[in-house]
Amino acid sequence: MRIKTMSEPVFSERAGQIHRKGEAPFAMECNKDSLAGAVSQRACVFCGSRVVLYPIADALHLVHGPIGCAAYTWDIRGALSSGPELHRLSFSTDLQEMDVIFGAETKLYRALTELIDRHHPKAAFVYSTCIVGIIGDDLEAVCRKVSDEKGIPVLPVQSEGFKGNKRAGYNAACQAMFRLVGTGDTSGISKKSLNILGDFNLAGEIWIIRDYFKRMGIEVVANITGDGRVDDIRRAHGAALNVVQCSGATMDLAKMMEEKYGTAHLRVSYFGVEDMAESLYAVARFFNDPEMMERTRELVREELSVLYPRLREFQQALAGKKAAIYVGGAFKAFSLVKAFRLLGMQVVLVGSQTGTQEDYQELHDITDDGTIIVDDSNPLELSSFLKEQDVDIFVGGVKERPIAFKLGVGFCDHNHERKEALEGFVGMLNFAQEVYNTVMSPVWRFVPRKSEAGAKG
Ligand code: SF4
Repeated sequence: MRIKTMSEPVFSERAGQIHRKGEAPFAMECNKDSLAGAVSQRACVFCGSRVVLYPIADALHLVHGPIGCAAYTWDIRGALSSGPELHRLSFSTDLQEMDVIFGAETKLYRALTELIDRHHPKAAFVYSTCIVGIIGDDLEAVCRKVSDEKGIPVLPVQSEGFKGNKRAGYNAACQAMFRLVGTGDTSGISKKSLNILGDFNLAGEIWIIRDYFKRMGIEVVANITGDGRVDDIRRAHGAALNVVQCSGATMDLAKMMEEKYGTAHLRVSYFGVEDMAESLYAVARFFNDPEMMERTRELVREELSVLYPRLREFQQALAGKKAAIYVGGAFKAFSLVKAFRLLGMQVVLVGSQTGTQEDYQELHDITDDGTIIVDDSNPLELSSFLKEQDVDIFVGGVKERPIAFKLGVGFCDHNHERKEALEGFVGMLNFAQEVYNTVMSPVWRFVPRKSEAGAKG
C-alpha cells in the first residue's frame, strides 16, 4: 500500500473504485467488501437494517446483542412521528460473557415478553448482531414462540454485522417487513393509491410529500417507514403503486411486492426542483388521469412561483462555488448534483457508500468533466480530494462532518441526523439557505481552509 495525492489514489488498492471523469473511459468497481485498514465510511449490516425499520413508530425494536450495538438510537437519527413514539425508546438484551458462552435465547425470550407486556406494541422487530450470528441463537424460533403467546407479529431481522455491507442490512429489513405485508384488510382502499417507500420522515419531510399527493387526489396507504405504522404496512399490498426513494434501502421490498402482489413501483426523488417535479409528474402519468395531471401541473406552478424568486439571491451569491457530495445511497447524489447546478455551483466530487454500477454510470452521465466519482470512500481519501479540489462546501452525514470542519470547509448535513427538511420545493429553499449560510459564514475568516493550492502558496 502506498500513499499518494493528486490524480492518484491514496490507497493504490482502491484505484478501481475512483474515477475522474474525462481522464479515462468510464469503468467503476463497486458493491464489494471494504478495504481492510482503510476505515470505510460505511456502517454495518445491523445499522443498515435499523436505519430502515426504526421509524415504524408503534413497533418495539429490540437489539439482541451487546449494549454497544444499540448506540444508533432515536437521539442520533430523529425520524418524527405524528402519533406513538415507541420507536424513540432503545432496547437491548445487553449480552454479557456468560450469555455468549451458554447462549442467550432464554434472555431474549424474557426481554421480549417483558417489553411486550409493558409497552403493548403492534409488532416487534428483533435485530441480530454479530455475536448472535456467532453463538447461533435461534432468533426465528424465539420470535415464533413469543408471537404465538402474545398474538402480535414478532419479526427476526437477520442483520449480523459481519455478513456483508450496509446494503445487506437493507435487504434484511425488507425481508422482515415483507412478512408483515399482506396480513391486513385492504377493503376501502382507493384505486388511486400508493405507498411511500424509502422516506424516513426526517424533520417531518414525509408530511410535505403526503400533502403533495393529497393535493393530486391520491390516497397514501402506508408510509414505509417514516412515521410508519404496523397496521398500514400490513395492508400496503392493497395500494396500486409503490413510490420508492433512496434506491438502496427499500427497493428490495418494492420488488418482492411486485412479484407477489403485482404492485408496480416507480423510483422517485423528492430532493431538488427538477426531481421533485418529475417525481410528481411520473406518479400522475402512472394513474393516467388527465384531471390529476392538471392538478399536478397547478401544484408545481404554485410552488415554483414562490420558490424561484427567493432562490435568486442565493444563486447570485453562490455562483461558481465548488461542492463535494458523499452520501449513503447514490440516488440522493443524483438530485444533489442537479440542485447544486440550479444554484450555479460546480460539483467536483461525488460518491456514495452503496452505489451500484448503474448508479455510478448515471452519476458519470450527469456530472461535468473533471468530477471525481468515488465508491465506499474513507476519511483519508475524502480529505485528500477536498484539499485537492479546494471545495467550498461538503455535503454528507455525521461521519463526514468532522472531515469538513477540520479542513476549514463548510458542511451541510444531508443524512438522518439533520433537523432541517430538505425534501419538496420548500426543502430546496431550505437547502439553498443552509448552503448559503455555511459557505458565506464569517467563521471561515478564523478557520482558514486547508487546500493543496493554499499549501503551495
Ligand atoms: S459490526 Fe457487529 S458488533 Fe459492531 S455494531 Fe454492527 S452488529 Fe454490533
